Amino acid sequence: MSEAQTKVKVHVDKVNKSYGSNHVLRDISLDINENEVVVMIGPSGSGKSTFLRMLNQLETPDNGTIVVDGYDLSHKGTDINKVRENIGMVFQSFNLFNNYTVLENIMLAPVELGKMDKEKAEKKARELLETVGLAEKADVSVNSLSGGQKQRIAIARALAMEPDIMLFDEPTSALDPEMVGDVLDVMKNLAGSGMTMIIVTHEMGFAKQVADRVVFFESGKIQESGVPEQVFNAPKNERLQEFLSKVM
Ligand code: ADP
Ligand code: MG
Repeated sequence: MSEAQTKVKVHVDKVNKSYGSNHVLRDISLDINENEVVVMIGPSGSGKSTFLRMLNQLETPDNGTIVVDGYDLSHKGTDINKVRENIGMVFQSFNLFNNYTVLENIMLAPVELGKMDKEKAEKKARELLETVGLAEKADVSVNSLSGGQKQRIAIARALAMEPDIMLFDEPTSALDPEMVGDVLDVMKNLAGSGMTMIIVTHEMGFAKQVADRVVFFESGKIQESGVPEQVFNAPKNERLQEFLSKVM
């Protein structure tokens, strides 16, 4: 493969998922390229979280194909733990270990999974704390942090595994408004560094600024997708028009 060739990091083809009679994802097909930042928008219950969770097999599709970093998730021989090590995930709830220090939280996965020795993991953790603007918090307990600080630590923790792809599921939805900007700034910088990112968010200003592509989910379907200017300024799909009239 030549260097210039675009590399597909995530390939999703005709994926369906139902919970009982609730058909949550309907024939979803989507390719995401290396270095691309894709923002997913859409009403609550439209299947955005289910889609993200399928990419690291927290959910299994009923049918269709998902290939992440060249690994076909439905192949029996695929080591899902290897795939997961390459995918960082950040949720609305931070899921940090509250009784540990900030540094311990960030070092835990790379050390436990044998990716780094303690010395290297600590060096990496301190670099990441600089990156998220919280170097001075290394030795405090996570308990003492604000929500926005916790979320920046959760991002640092995900990055400690040196993932190729970062998934964000409404990372700022649980935060007080004054905390949102700092977290979005960290994500903007990460996007600028070339990280492949898939982000579910209701922050439309952020989406406009940072997304290479915006994907609108509604009723388990991708109803429209395109560059931000098209999706926000010239939406074709009626449901997207209605959604935007409510959120913008
Ligand atoms: P979104 O993230 O867009 O709000 P979700 O992917 O969370 O949407 O949910 C899509 C639909 O799937 C909703 O109807 C939700 O109730 C349902 N759902 C999600 N997870 C489960 C689950 N584990 N079991 C049963 N139903 C679920
Ligand atoms: Mg969701």
